[in-house]
Amino acid sequence: MIMNLTFEQKLRNYADLAVNVGIGLQPGQTLIIRDVPLESAPFVRLIAESAYKAGAKLVDVIWKDDALILTRFQHAPRDSFSEFPTWNTEAVLESVLNRNGATLKIVAEKPGLLDGQDPELIIEAKIVRQQQLQEIFKYSMANYYNWSVISMPIPSWAAKIFPDDAPQTQIDKLWDLIFEVCRVNQPDPVQAWKEHAKTLTEKKIYLNNKKYTSFKYKAPGTELTLGLPEGHIWHGVSAVTSKGINFMPNLPSEEIFTMPHRDQADGVLSNTRPFSSGGMFIDQFSLKFENGRIVNATAKTGETILKQLIATDEGATRLGEIALVPHSSPISQSNVLFYNTLFDENAASHLAIGKAYRFCMVDGDQMDDDQFATAGGNNSLIHEDLMIGSDEMDIDGVTAAGDIEPIMRAGEWAF
Ligand code: ZN
Ligand code: ZN
Repeated sequence: MIMNLTFEQKLRNYADLAVNVGIGLQPGQTLIIRDVPLESAPFVRLIAESAYKAGAKLVDVIWKDDALILTRFQHAPRDSFSEFPTWNTEAVLESVLNRNGATLKIVAEKPGLLDGQDPELIIEAKIVRQQQLQEIFKYSMANYYNWSVISMPIPSWAAKIFPDDAPQTQIDKLWDLIFEVCRVNQPDPVQAWKEHAKTLTEKKIYLNNKKYTSFKYKAPGTELTLGLPEGHIWHGVSAVTSKGINFMPNLPSEEIFTMPHRDQADGVLSNTRPFSSGGMFIDQFSLKFENGRIVNATAKTGETILKQLIATDEGATRLGEIALVPHSSPISQSNVLFYNTLFDENAASHLAIGKAYRFCMVDGDQMDDDQFATAGGNNSLIHEDLMIGSDEMDIDGVTAAGDIEPIMRAGEWAF
């Protein structure tokens, strides 16, 4: 059966999907929607409606405005970038800890917003922000509460993806794409996500049983061996809180992921999609690793900011995530560069520099920082995904017995 949903129906489906499947919102919870671009007010009202229908006690919004962020970089005193609005994190913590709160984060920004601004200030502002958010990460990464991250079009972002179209067409096209890759166009989006989660869960279980000791990557510009620490755990798509609430941390999500060993990366990687996040834009870059550490970094675009990013702290020179995404994922098949990590990381296998997630290691949340590092876990203020997958990438897994088995061939699952 072919369903011709109107745009309004799709918007409602997307809002319902975010609330019921993404957040998994339960009656009696409060909801804070974070980082909402001012341009997204109409859609956020729909999400609030959907949340109240699902039984939310209170829906509150923390707004964000690219223009204000840029104004600060252009005009604020150069020595003022350690300032941070702490009420922002306190509001989230208060809701999550005291009022059974859930959160929804919106990722939509102008790609390259901070092009031409002082790289040192960009990194300083980022470090301060990450430091301030640590307390929230502590609870979200322990799945203490249910949370999700989604996106929605804003004009500056849509213009970057579809530069040749008229403004309204740019927005319409980006909505269409988001509906498509979030399976909102399907007759029963909730069922579609359940089936998708089932497929990825099978891959996850297979890899968790295999307990590979290392992965070998091969693609044009990439030749890399990554050790996998003992006790690493593969995760993907769905998560469950300590109180038993099911949620999907990212919509869309096509990846399964774990942590590599912080001291065991050797070789070279080259990106296949640009890094576009936090107003920064880096492309055509290459990183060389020795014993887990980046020893050389080059980029055709954004080399200075790439070097600054890696210099954030010791952990920023090492890897904290290894994620597999088949090239046939709907996002990749759309053949669109999103300039937005939420989408681009789900279009290509990727690695992240910086922090490894504790839940990717058996008993990781029981370890102190030293124990976690000794076990192979990386710690850093940052966690930045770098996309390296393509239809030219082969990945092999090495077993404890030394056997080499195919994981991916030409960017597709090989098991
Ligand atoms: Zn990832
Ligand atoms: Zn990541």
